[in-house]
Amino acid sequence: MHQFHYVGNKLQCEGVGLDTLVKKFGTPLYVYSQATLENHFHKLDSAMKPIDHLVCFAVKSNSNLSVLRTLANCGSGFDIVSVGELMRVIKAGGDPTKCVFAGAAKTEAEIEFAMRQNVFCFTAESEPELVRINKVAARLKKIAPVAVRVNPNIAAKTHAKITTGTYEDKFGIAFELIEGVYARAAKLKNLRLRGVQMHIGSQITETTPFEKAVQKMLPLVKKLKARHGIEFFSIGGGLGIVYKPALESGSPAWWKSAAAKKILTPQKYADKLLPLLQPLGLKILMEPGRFICGNAGVLVTHVEYVKRTGRKNFVIVDAAMNDLIRPAFYEAYHQILPLAKKNAATISSDVVGGVCESGDYFCKDRPLPKFTEGEHLVLMSAGAYGFVMASTYNTRPLTAEILVSGKKFAAVRERQKVEATWAGENVAKWLK
Ligand SMILES: *Cc1c(COP(=O)(O)O)cnc(C)c1O
Repeated sequence: MHQFHYVGNKLQCEGVGLDTLVKKFGTPLYVYSQATLENHFHKLDSAMKPIDHLVCFAVKSNSNLSVLRTLANCGSGFDIVSVGELMRVIKAGGDPTKCVFAGAAKTEAEIEFAMRQNVFCFTAESEPELVRINKVAARLKKIAPVAVRVNPNIAAKTHAKITTGTYEDKFGIAFELIEGVYARAAKLKNLRLRGVQMHIGSQITETTPFEKAVQKMLPLVKKLKARHGIEFFSIGGGLGIVYKPALESGSPAWWKSAAAKKILTPQKYADKLLPLLQPLGLKILMEPGRFICGNAGVLVTHVEYVKRTGRKNFVIVDAAMNDLIRPAFYEAYHQILPLAKKNAATISSDVVGGVCESGDYFCKDRPLPKFTEGEHLVLMSAGAYGFVMASTYNTRPLTAEILVSGKKFAAVRERQKVEATWAGENVAKWLK
């Protein structure tokens, strides 16, 4: 569910036409729907209602201060992977005592800062990290709450760059070693073994991998509760979203209904997992990122040129891989819609940016309406791992970000000035 719809022939975000935003703020432009963020949060939160739980939004998926504030206002906790993210959460008005601090490379300074902010828990990814957290805690004369990230060795059937829960991945500690790790950690005086965590990957579109992983974890979690008094089990994030609607290209009705059945909804997720989790008597944490913000954002771009070479039709736009790297990085699919609906015949097109890399494309050989110079295209489902992965490669300034709520809108990030892309750089004195 999201709040981007055609009204007449214009694509709108909630009550605001994207053309209005383009006129005011230019392109490329990220636009987020506040109602969609809230709706996704509440859907998951209420599906899990029968059990003591906390939804911790994965900040790395979209860390704009207004996005974080929206979720903090919903009562969300946060899954953070750096001190920078923790500082952002605090700046946005989020509650550090509802933050879980993950990430495999925490420095002593990061651990100290997080401990002073009383984060809910550290998610440790190795034994040396547990030793380090204990050392910092001892220095501060504090007790550090920790959970260990378990690698359950479950294949999540997703893209190789976003699977995390198998022994081929760098994340967590192998399932078989966990009991020993907790036994040794229990001897570290300044640690409190507060929970246990797993995260098997991202963009998982069926319930089975989650079910399998939880099932595998259950006996271990029970043991850890009995032996060490852990209070929570974090089942991670990874809930997938629909990037490629079945509605596209006039699919037949049977196909649409089959596709609808396959969509992973919070209710399906909860229906499968709650019966497994309820008997544990533990608090359950979830760390969704993409599920909450993925379909809540789009990237609007301007067609600069249309060029035919050989058998190809290239639509060259003003957004590029530096603004949205997912197609180049993960071969990701983003639905592409015209800002102003048109009845033009379709033509197999490559939509590409202006960066000097052949990986700089948004789609290849996709049947799209015949676009012309000056029109605007909308890359859908760009709210997660979009702006946060943007760079200034090719000295292209970072785009603006807009938040829409009903008929209201605000630039929640101003477009970067070109000069700002070299701020902090210096010409060495001897270069004259
Ligand atoms: C990236 C990540 C998440 C969020 O993943 P999504 O696929 O966006 O839900 C949650 N937990 C951890 C530990 C992560 O690394």
